[in-house]
Amino acid sequence: LFLALEGGDGAGKSTQAALLCRALEDIGRTVVRTREPGGTPIGETLRSLVLEHGHGDIDARTEALMFAASRAAHVHQVIVPALQRGEVVVCDRYIDSSVAYQGAGRGLGPQTVLDVNLWATDGLRPDLTVLLDVDPAEGRSRRTAGAAPEDRLESEPDGFHASIRSAFLDLARQEPGRYLVLAASAPPEELHRAILDALPRVTA
Ligand code: C5P
Repeated sequence: LFLALEGGDGAGKSTQAALLCRALEDIGRTVVRTREPGGTPIGETLRSLVLEHGHGDIDARTEALMFAASRAAHVHQVIVPALQRGEVVVCDRYIDSSVAYQGAGRGLGPQTVLDVNLWATDGLRPDLTVLLDVDPAEGRSRRTAGAAPEDRLESEPDGFHASIRSAFLDLARQEPGRYLVLAASAPPEELHRAILDALPRVTA
């Protein structure tokens, strides 16, 4: 079972990933919690490179390919082996983040970025993608409240985050069967409950 959490910066994905993993472990599942960019030594190195240099220093295509390379390593070294062992993978960000950030945010085009990533991952998609839909202004205030690690790209204007938000919502509209869309402003416990309620949809 492959579950992904998506959403803009400050949406609360890490909190929900932690709650979800604990709930799955409580019912006896073995869970691999992982994140992108990152998840492998190569992926973590690429993550630091991209975040250190920031979007200003790296052109959009290079950035997209670095995220895709990180994802390819992650899929082949971590995600597929775990799924083959029958474990649950909970991944904080996956392909849809690239479609939103590099495809829409950086203007490379959602379809191009999707195609590159489908090649990188050999077409592996999550069984369920939870979108924590966050208003850019709210996401910004949550980030500056200190809840986020400082390696995030917090300097981007709200317009950038607004285009990412609408790209995520477009993806959810295109594939309603794979998506659960939740308003990130709801209390964490309520969001957690809604995520658990959606699981039978993909485990049944
Ligand atoms: O969610 P997390 O804090 O791990 O993401 C790290 C940073 O990488 C975020 O600032 C996010 O905006 C950025 N990112 C990106 N493109 C992706 C995935 C994440 O620009 N495909």
